[in-house]
Amino acid sequence: MNKRFHIKTMGCQMNEYDSDFLAQSLIKNGFSPENEVGQADVILINTCAVRAKPEQKACSFLGRMAGLKEKNPELVVGMIGCLAQMKGKELMKRFPLLDFIMGPRELEKIIDIVGEIYDSRQKIAVTGLKGAPPSPVNCPGYFQNQTSGFISIMEGCNNFCSYCIVPYVRGREHFRPPEDILREAEHLLSEGVREITLLGQNVNSYTWDDPDHWNFSSLLHAMGNLEDLSRLRFTTSHPKDLSDALLGCFQKMDKLAGHIHLPFQAGSNRILKLMRRGYTREEYLEIIEKLRTAKEGIAITSDVMVGFPGETDEDFLLTLDLIQQVEFDSLFSFKYSDREGTPAAKMPDKISKGVKVSRLQRLQDLQSSITLKKNRHLEGRQLTVLVEGTSKKGGQLTGRTSANKIVNFDGDSHLAGKLVEVTIQESYLNSLKGKLTGS
Ligand code: SF4
Repeated sequence: MNKRFHIKTMGCQMNEYDSDFLAQSLIKNGFSPENEVGQADVILINTCAVRAKPEQKACSFLGRMAGLKEKNPELVVGMIGCLAQMKGKELMKRFPLLDFIMGPRELEKIIDIVGEIYDSRQKIAVTGLKGAPPSPVNCPGYFQNQTSGFISIMEGCNNFCSYCIVPYVRGREHFRPPEDILREAEHLLSEGVREITLLGQNVNSYTWDDPDHWNFSSLLHAMGNLEDLSRLRFTTSHPKDLSDALLGCFQKMDKLAGHIHLPFQAGSNRILKLMRRGYTREEYLEIIEKLRTAKEGIAITSDVMVGFPGETDEDFLLTLDLIQQVEFDSLFSFKYSDREGTPAAKMPDKISKGVKVSRLQRLQDLQSSITLKKNRHLEGRQLTVLVEGTSKKGGQLTGRTSANKIVNFDGDSHLAGKLVEVTIQESYLNSLKGKLTGS
């Protein structure tokens, strides 16, 4: 009998990539995807542990699934990803419907584990952290009709920022060989993908020594030579690893998008030190200046946190000040939450929820006014847009500029996957509206 699987993905782009990895492995082994969770024979929940919210969402999803096993005792339910790595065994006790948990470094075992559960109905936990990042099986047709795709170039992180759970749940940095990455890119391009985002917790620390010495910029150059590739992106970068060679890529490579996501997390040197970020606000500001010199008009986005233990009003004002100085294109902003097992979780002087909420609101209001102002400056300009397809509402085409701004405009669906010229007519907080002026 043909078994159907459903994957529920929560969290970051890395998790989306991992879900595609699992889906392709399952399809290659005779399973088929199922949109309705209640109709699936195998349910996989791919979760994130970096912040509290996805964890709460994953638990409430598991709670809602409890009745399914009574209806279908053959159902196999597994939890994958960082949360599985961090709290999987505890969650298996709390949610008896969970048959297995699998850490993010064990994805290659998915077929064996599902098979073993069908054979024995024993609960299984695999949470090793040492394996090299595997290459996906590249299932033909899986990425057809997709303009953008992801490629993971590394796993794990060596930085140990004091608030972050990633080095504990994804392990230490481990890179994929360049030839594997380029092979995967060729496959995505053969499926019709035109924009590739290289993924990793700290992509600009990429290095590979065998047989030649590779670093992140040489990998970018090799990717840029792929004929069918229209645009190349990467995320996430650490400010302390941003090299002159990478700045040179922004200067020289036409295909490299004019956008960088460069988390700063806090604007106060005292808090940055407690966070163990490895740079000061002055150094961060210097990097921003270098980026803007290397690539005029480069879009800069970032991550920032409010309410880190011990954060005073003065520290918070320094964060607002940095935001004002840099004028980010957009920000992912979060309230600090304790991640069990990290040094920050044990720090004194925790900030109350009320203070965190009001600081976050103030910060987001400031950033919204900056984003709106920057988007307004684009009105009347002609921008090159990579068309992704039809937008969810309104039936217009949707695509992205090199600076990663979403643009909606009228046009024929055959333009999907193409670079077109669009003149911006109206700007909003999260998108732009324009008129097709060249294709
Ligand atoms: S750089 Fe810091 S915040 Fe980013 S994944 Fe590594 S430890 Fe976490």
